[in-house]
Amino acid sequence: MATRVKDSAAPTPMIAQYLALKAEAEGCLLFYRMGDFFELFFDDAKVAAQCLDIALTARGEHEGAPIPMCGVPIHAAEAYLARLIRAGHRVAIAEQTENPAEARKRGHKAVVNRAIVRVVTAGTLTEEALLDSRSANWLAAVAKAGERYGIAAADVSTGRFELSSVPLAALDAELARLAAAEIVSPEPIAGAQQRRAGFDSLAAERRLKEKFGVATLDGFGAFDRAALCAAGGLLAYLDEVARDSLPFLRPPLAVTAGDHMMIDAATRESLELTQSVSGGRAGSLLACIDRTVTGAGARLLAADLGAPLLDRGRIEARLDLVGMFERDPAARELVRRQLRALPDVGRALGRLVAGRGGPRDLGQLRDGLNEARRLHDRLARIAEPPALLAALLPALAGHGELTDLLDRALVPSPPIDAGQGGYIAEGYDAALDALRASGGEGRRAIAALEARYREQTGISVLKIRHNAVLGYHIEVPARHADRLMAAESDFTHRQTLAGVVRFNAPDLHEQALRVTQAGAHALAAEAGHLEELTEAALSRAEAIAAAADALARLDVAAALAERAAEGGWCRPLFAADGRFEVEAGRHPVVEEALKAGAARFVANDCRLAEESRLWLVTGPNMGGKSTFLRQNALIAILAQAGSCVPAASATLGLVDRLFSRVGASDNLARGRSTFMVEMVETAAILAQATTSSFVILDEVGRGTSTYDGLAIAWAVVEAIHDKCRCRCLFATHYHELTRLAERLDALSLHHVRAREWKGDLVLLHEVASGPADRSYGIAVAKLAGLPPAVLARAKSVLAKLEEGRAATGGIAAGLDDLPLFAAAAQEEAAPDPLRSALAEAEPDRLTPREALDLVYRLKRLQAEGG
Ligand code: ADP
Ligand code: MG
Repeated sequence: MATRVKDSAAPTPMIAQYLALKAEAEGCLLFYRMGDFFELFFDDAKVAAQCLDIALTARGEHEGAPIPMCGVPIHAAEAYLARLIRAGHRVAIAEQTENPAEARKRGHKAVVNRAIVRVVTAGTLTEEALLDSRSANWLAAVAKAGERYGIAAADVSTGRFELSSVPLAALDAELARLAAAEIVSPEPIAGAQQRRAGFDSLAAERRLKEKFGVATLDGFGAFDRAALCAAGGLLAYLDEVARDSLPFLRPPLAVTAGDHMMIDAATRESLELTQSVSGGRAGSLLACIDRTVTGAGARLLAADLGAPLLDRGRIEARLDLVGMFERDPAARELVRRQLRALPDVGRALGRLVAGRGGPRDLGQLRDGLNEARRLHDRLARIAEPPALLAALLPALAGHGELTDLLDRALVPSPPIDAGQGGYIAEGYDAALDALRASGGEGRRAIAALEARYREQTGISVLKIRHNAVLGYHIEVPARHADRLMAAESDFTHRQTLAGVVRFNAPDLHEQALRVTQAGAHALAAEAGHLEELTEAALSRAEAIAAAADALARLDVAAALAERAAEGGWCRPLFAADGRFEVEAGRHPVVEEALKAGAARFVANDCRLAEESRLWLVTGPNMGGKSTFLRQNALIAILAQAGSCVPAASATLGLVDRLFSRVGASDNLARGRSTFMVEMVETAAILAQATTSSFVILDEVGRGTSTYDGLAIAWAVVEAIHDKCRCRCLFATHYHELTRLAERLDALSLHHVRAREWKGDLVLLHEVASGPADRSYGIAVAKLAGLPPAVLARAKSVLAKLEEGRAATGGIAAGLDDLPLFAAAAQEEAAPDPLRSALAEAEPDRLTPREALDLVYRLKRLQAEGG
């Protein structure tokens, strides 16, 4: 039987090519270059049209159905790419690898050859328009070897490349520190793309040695098998997306988890270090302290805050530099003014190495390195410079040969794109100057020809124009065309359009040839220079990157000094023991928010020591417990990141791991407030905290019923006190926990003070020693605007409950004799079942059927009670 498939079902050669490329692009959207557009077809077109809000059209047919299509113009492609990447897509770029003329030579209907030249993914961006100038952009590869997890992380926009290896318990904290835009791994890691290719330690080692021209990697640090496996996976992925032109990678830095304070993802989130709970930068600690004036400085500050140091010497070195800038406001202002004008040298270099750079990037290197030298000369005059400054200075100078070359070669503001030329300065290359002169003469000659032709023909509206198809030509309105059409005239007809007719002429042709040839030769000459200059810059890539790093470090130090001066912050001192003494500490973010409302922040002391390492903080809601806990955790981070701290004085024993947990119900905003999460996160602390750790627990146990919660909080405090023996601040609304003070030596009681004044509650936000005398819950409810009738009723219920507490010894009465749940059973009998059933009922949420059931239940309870 004859098949009924129509001829048209066979794909056209173009669609066949498209489908082959699309298959190669595995899971990416395919940008298919057609002339001045990138086109998307089939499902890609539907996805992109939706995401980019552009028109979905159709073109031709495939298997009997029209092919959906949409396209973006080349000149606007970056902006569209940015939106697709941000929406979580990966995009493969298929470029034309020959021009249509070349294709035609192969055959009348040959399709222009195309190939995927690059895959654009969130973790491998270099383009300014696609990146946030103030955040690093990490790609991470994670591999498991034995019990270790290797992490290879690269920010190809600046060439930063780190290798580390951690046990499973520290993996979360390390990945949280990097907050990578993209993760690849053969392991099932949350948020990672599953990839297997290249995770091979031996091959990775060989490639790294080859790439960095070394016989051994020892000079860069010690890398174990897990780290090298990860490096292999990273390189393989970069090969795949960059299509064999490896982007910028500096020699790998060995990062060990022991270098910096371990801060897991939950802690980072709850302390709002770099992002607030609402997701943005605003409201975070970073936003509150960031006074940097360059993108590179902002990126370094974020990295510093994310990885506070454990080495006292390194911390003090940073603080010495901050201190120098703090004491000398004039020098600080001067340096900051100079830095403000600085281009992003690191990222310009990243683009040049990746082969996506242009004249403007070279201009940025020139300007940045020149500025670096000026800063060097100024800072070198400082007598007795801090050690860190002395170490940074050499990186800022020594680029003279390159900057001299770029100074001579480039125009003051070179264009982004090399296509139009015009970026090589006059006087750099005599041959180029001659070509430009000849082109200029040609253009002047053409202008003169226009006048001559007008005179000759008597057509005053005759014009000489230029376009891409015809080049230079003469144009006259149609009504004058006859005169030029005459056989004896020198003009040859080229084109007739509605209203105008276009001609050529021998003189014009000659001059035009001169202009275009000179232009083409000049462009080629410029391109040749661009290549040489780029090469000259790239041969110094490492030194330039080091200069960029040094500039960023200066920016951070001057910015921290600025912030400290602004807020009256102090330089922290460090102790060898486990103390944590903060005098008049403040929460910088809350303080700033209060200041905006003209309110004053109440400073509070915190005094932990080895023998008094656990503070239990009670007191009314809204009294300032959470704020107090967090401000101390933030002070530990700031201090070890090398910043001054918001306090009158601070003396701290170094913190190796920091944990912050917030009870589930305080955490509703996160939208995943399950009690389970709270418990899993708490369990991690008990497993990982050491005697040098610092833990803040805020209302832990709150996510479940009173008795469970109290029991858990109780057990957690005991475990922290007896097993972890770390420093800990524990805020709780379980007044009953204060009984723990009788049994745990190193635990002391504190409360946030409040007063009732003329029936109103006044929250003093002052932390005082001893337990809170009462909970003030009803007063807080009044503050919150609960109706008077409800408040009155609550007061009478409270009086009843307190009578009961006096009689039975309170709900914590049984806590000295665990198990706790016996105590729970006893208490539950007290309230009137009918009233509690009524109180629990939520009329707005009941279905008619449930409402009826409720009425029956109430009747039954009434019968039982009566
Ligand atoms: P709690 O955890 O005890 O319920 P919070 O720490 O959440 O209380 O603080 C509630 C509010 O009180 C904060 O949003 C802030 O406006 C204010 N507050 C907290 N601490 C202070 C302080 N030390 N000085 C001034 N206001 C404060
Ligand atoms: Mg709180």
